[in-house]
Amino acid sequence: MAKSNAYKGLSTTAIHAGEGPDPATGASAPNIVMSSTYVAEEIAGFSAHDLSDDSPFLYGRWANPSVRALENKIAALEGTESCLCLASGMAAASAIFLTVLSAGDHVIVSDVSYAGVAELARDTLPRLGIEVSLVDMTDLGAVAQAVRANTKLIHTETPANPIMRLTDLAAISEIARSAGARHSCDATFASPIGQKSAELGVDYVMHSITKYIGGHGDAIGGAVCARAQDIRALTVEAAIHHGGILSPFNAWLIARGTSTLPLRMRAHQEGAMAVAAWLEDHPKATKVLYPGLASHPQHELAARQMQNYSGMIAFQVGDERTGETLAARMAEELQVIHYAVSLGHHRSLIWWLPTSGMMETSFRLSGKQFDRYRDFAGDGIFRLSIGLEDAEDLIADLDRVLG
Ligand SMILES: *Cc1c(COP(=O)(O)O)cnc(C)c1O
Repeated sequence: MAKSNAYKGLSTTAIHAGEGPDPATGASAPNIVMSSTYVAEEIAGFSAHDLSDDSPFLYGRWANPSVRALENKIAALEGTESCLCLASGMAAASAIFLTVLSAGDHVIVSDVSYAGVAELARDTLPRLGIEVSLVDMTDLGAVAQAVRANTKLIHTETPANPIMRLTDLAAISEIARSAGARHSCDATFASPIGQKSAELGVDYVMHSITKYIGGHGDAIGGAVCARAQDIRALTVEAAIHHGGILSPFNAWLIARGTSTLPLRMRAHQEGAMAVAAWLEDHPKATKVLYPGLASHPQHELAARQMQNYSGMIAFQVGDERTGETLAARMAEELQVIHYAVSLGHHRSLIWWLPTSGMMETSFRLSGKQFDRYRDFAGDGIFRLSIGLEDAEDLIADLDRVLG
């Protein structure tokens, strides 16, 4: 039957954890179990509160063998006891917020994050009576000062979308621990290969598995990795009650992608290093942000905290007008790189994020927090997700449009 244990090496774990030959047929590759219900061998309760770790499969919103296999594979890679997969990365983020937080609680959220999470924190949580402080996570003093008696959660993201700013996870875990709060981290950009978030004290490690973990741009999903008892609570709340479960077909596709994650992350890093180094020497690129470059303002933290620098690069080209003109050219003229949102796929993707637009819609920062964003992003950045193509083809494609 399915094995959830980790092996010595990450590659073996990625391939074999969570799966095994089918006991009925000997099939080496996993089947997809699409059934929504299961024939019971004895009478059982049908409330989420009857759930236990050895409950048999009962109904697809409670658990599904194909989804379970993926959860065990991701937990083994992340090094946590357990994992819950959900319908999207946003479903994973809202699962954490809506399970850990209640009306009257306080949460500290990174002031720069994935846009959907930024808007959830600014609009939805306050509407539910949850107090939100938006803090620059690189300013550890400000994080400690933001702690209140009712602080239940600190939510970080590293590297942070879209500016590639890093957060010192061990330091934030320490602040959370002394505040009696939990620490959740969106580790989508790093993947389980790029950093060992749970080892650094993170209680809830979340991923948009639409990105690196799935890796092929053909299935949307999300995951939260945590201790078994925390995953049980999330399962009752977010899966069984809120209902945002991952489909078995997507789980099967994403598990197939996960098998090659360690191999792909090495190639993403190699390609990103080559393109980032080339961009840094290009006269039109005014700033290049890649954690693997010695010029990244937090390269020392990156070297300490990350085992793989991943494939995400942010770069600036002049002022907002120059950036916008170039973005329009990219959309029309790039031949290899797709001008599209999303990231972490085998196809390279690029997207223009003007600072003024990001401030109006998702981030709404002012004063020192705005200045700190602008230090990284200038008037706007190109977010480039390096895929698995040959670096020379990506460089030729960029060189043509940069001129
Ligand atoms: C894409 C993304 C999300 C949201 O994930 P979906 O699967 O699109 O819902 C959350 N966080 C980060 C960092 C992302 O890149």
